[in-house]
Amino acid sequence: MSRRVFNFSAGPSVLPLPVLERISEEMTCFSDTGVSILELGHRTAAFTNVLAEAIERLRRILKISDEYEVFFVQGGGRFIFSVLPMNFCLTDQPSQVGDYLVSGTWGASALAEASNAGRGHCVWDGATLGYKCLPDVKTLLLSPDAAYLHYTSNETIEGVQFQGDLKSQLVKSQLVKSVPVICDMSSDFLSRPIDIQNYDMVYACIQKNLGPAGATLVIAKRELLNRSQDRMPGYCNLRNHAAAKSMYNTPPTFCIYVANLVLQWFEEVFGDLETIGEFNRKKSQLIYDAIAKDSDVYQLHAQEDCRSQMNVTFRLPDTETEKRLLVESEAAGLAFLAGHRSVGGIRASLYNAMPMEGAEALAGFLAEFAYRAQNV
Ligand code: PMP
Repeated sequence: MSRRVFNFSAGPSVLPLPVLERISEEMTCFSDTGVSILELGHRTAAFTNVLAEAIERLRRILKISDEYEVFFVQGGGRFIFSVLPMNFCLTDQPSQVGDYLVSGTWGASALAEASNAGRGHCVWDGATLGYKCLPDVKTLLLSPDAAYLHYTSNETIEGVQFQGDLKSQLVKSQLVKSVPVICDMSSDFLSRPIDIQNYDMVYACIQKNLGPAGATLVIAKRELLNRSQDRMPGYCNLRNHAAAKSMYNTPPTFCIYVANLVLQWFEEVFGDLETIGEFNRKKSQLIYDAIAKDSDVYQLHAQEDCRSQMNVTFRLPDTETEKRLLVESEAAGLAFLAGHRSVGGIRASLYNAMPMEGAEALAGFLAEFAYRAQNV
């Protein structure tokens, strides 16, 4: 296929076209080095400048203070699932747990990793309700001395998103004052305003809003990292990655280079989180309106008060009609709309790099498809 399509994939996902063009332009010779970024040593000034620039941009966009370390690691979101309990649950207190709020498949996977290590405690699980909704924080079964409280701001598979941050809700309800809050922000990182002070640690695999697959970004309070336990494999110790400034081992140089270009694009086009938040709200509203207008054909998965601006998930009356929608949408240049293989249905991922035209084209297609479905 020689033409580009609108890419609704959940990740790896759409990247900004100007970024792809820039990569292509400087692929054989990067920044007067005479070599490609793929061939460039990670200790060269040309690469360390790229890394420093990416971290600087993140600090600027998210207004991250010096209390926090910002670094990249390899291993994806799941690497962080695996290492959280060994980093933060005290070795000399074998009964200390991490508290997990499970609002979808990824939260469940994070809890499973902690439970494997004997350190997982579930404070709420939306599975029996079909992962369609979020809890009233007053119902959470919080542990008295948890090492941390973990949650997923946006569940990529089910399309369920916290509308604000959890810590503010807890503080408002006078429930939690001191437990460190750790948030998996993989699929809504940089998509809307957040106050980083409401998190002790945020992490995001970068293959959604930040770059290609192969790296995970961690923003963590130094105070939390200082609690990291000593007895574990060096690579698993997040303090090592922070201390080595993303260079504990050879970093994923290409990923970081692309992330820096994506952040540059973000600053040039949107400038701040308020602007991107409004842009993403408008895009998802177009799709939610199209679904609501033809509710005989489309059924939303998530409840309205927690539906996601990043991953819109819905069903059609039967799997045959869903298959037809997938075939016809692809022919119309609207690609990768299939729901996750574990749940089926339709999922439209609308990350930052999805242009408004993509959302408009999908909304138009859904109206037309519904008309045909009802008039055959
Ligand atoms: N958390 C969330 C919210 C995700 O969407 C994903 C992947 N889609 C992961 C964690 C796991 O990331 P990875 O595949 O990079 O390990």
